Amino acid sequence: MTIERVGFVGLGNMGRVLAANLVDSGFDVVSHDMAGSEHSPPGASFVSTVEELAAEADTIVCSLPDGAASEQVAGAIARAEGRRAASVVDTSTIGVTAARSVDGLLRAAAIGYVDAPVSGGVAGARARTLSIMYAGPEPVCAAVEPVLAGLSDRRRHVGEVAGLGQALKLANNFLSAVALAATSEAVAFSVSMGLDIEVVLEVLNASSGQSQATTDKFPNHVLTGRYAAGFANSLMAKDLRLYLEAAAARSDATRTIGAVTASVWERFADAEPGADFTRIYPFLAGT
Ligand code: NAD
Repeated sequence: MTIERVGFVGLGNMGRVLAANLVDSGFDVVSHDMAGSEHSPPGASFVSTVEELAAEADTIVCSLPDGAASEQVAGAIARAEGRRAASVVDTSTIGVTAARSVDGLLRAAAIGYVDAPVSGGVAGARARTLSIMYAGPEPVCAAVEPVLAGLSDRRRHVGEVAGLGQALKLANNFLSAVALAATSEAVAFSVSMGLDIEVVLEVLNASSGQSQATTDKFPNHVLTGRYAAGFANSLMAKDLRLYLEAAAARSDATRTIGAVTASVWERFADAEPGADFTRIYPFLAGT
């Protein structure tokens, strides 16, 4: 049996782990990142252009920072001479408009596109519990299913139309952003009242204020002082901008809390560009 060759573009915090998962799942992986080969996982080969990748791989997985990068990479794949790549799985968070634009670009070149954003962080990617919410036509999704299975054990086909994966991911990250910002305020308030932070978290985790912010982000990153969840505040601010942009075409009811939350993350990203998103606690607490 020939082993499918999978291309991987974008070896950042998330991409390097996902590319390693594909190697571990037995795929022949060829990788590329504009920043160089430093984070190409052991067992993968590296090429210095997207065009070379498109000529070598059957399916290409992307983990890129934003829509502009995804559009640029999709354009290079579509134009590549001697192209072998027949499908693209984009795990990046790029928003609904960019996903539709990438879909159009690839469709015109007869390349299948699966809009497949992910949630669960770098730790989730390592543990293979990363949630992949993917959208695309059934035949294209069926063709890339082995590759999706190589990325993570947790996957859900959420619709046939590109952009629906993004819509759900933006809704998810809006909730995650609210929870971490609101928990930071509530903990700062409790500590300012004289409570011990560890006691506060213990009680919140046994009460209705519990969320992933209290079960994971605070114990593993704030209390330990590690602040190393591997997700930059600028990426969270981007996700909220994309949420508001998509919600602008909907009713006001979809963006009241969204607008306030986005402004808090925008302020944090402006003040400390690129900081781990868990540092929002010291930022809001002023510590
Ligand atoms: P990152 O900034 O760490 O990595 C992005 C990588 O893409 C970098 O290595 C960069 O050099 C490379 N890159 C950028 N433009 C490129 C181009 N045109 N061609 C080739 N390579 C290019 O970001 P990340 O944290 O790994 O996140 C990647 C995507 O996954 C983002 O869309 C993010 O929103 C999403 N995401 C991240 C996490 C997380 O916990 N880190 C969780 C869920 C979703």
